[in-house]
Amino acid sequence: MIRYDLICEKEHVFEAWFSNSSDYDRQEKEGLLCCAVCASSEVRKTIMAPNVTTSRKKEQTRETHQKSLSVMSAEARKMAEAVKAEIRKNCENVGDKFADEARAMHYGEKESRGIYGKASLREASELAEEGVSIAPLPDVYVPEESKSDKKLN
Ligand SMILES: [Zn+2]
Repeated sequence: MIRYDLICEKEHVFEAWFSNSSDYDRQEKEGLLCCAVCASSEVRKTIMAPNVTTSRKKEQTRETHQKSLSVMSAEARKMAEAVKAEIRKNCENVGDKFADEARAMHYGEKESRGIYGKASLREASELAEEGVSIAPLPDVYVPEESKSDKKLN
């Protein structure tokens, strides 16, 4: 048995069963097919191709989208690595003392220099409120010993 979705001239879609594809061809040739809804004999197999094309297009769009996302994140990762390397080269890692050091420099207690380190969200917002110029640099503040990919912000 084989099932076809048939459609009539008035676009009624219905399913019909045939013993095989030549059985369908024979019935069609002999005009034995008729619409289950309106009994029209102008009946043909529905063409599924447009649906297939549409879903394939969606698939491709999604793939393209995913591809561009992964390219972007690779680019972003590269940039973050470059920033990190630059900071390592030029700045001093003050670790957990970041907030103290940044504040000391801000108030002129210490000579200004480039530093990086860790700050909690609370410390960071306190510094910002005090007008200390700091910038969150995702990844850079992640402790070396931590294998986690978590970012501080
Ligand atoms: Zn019909």
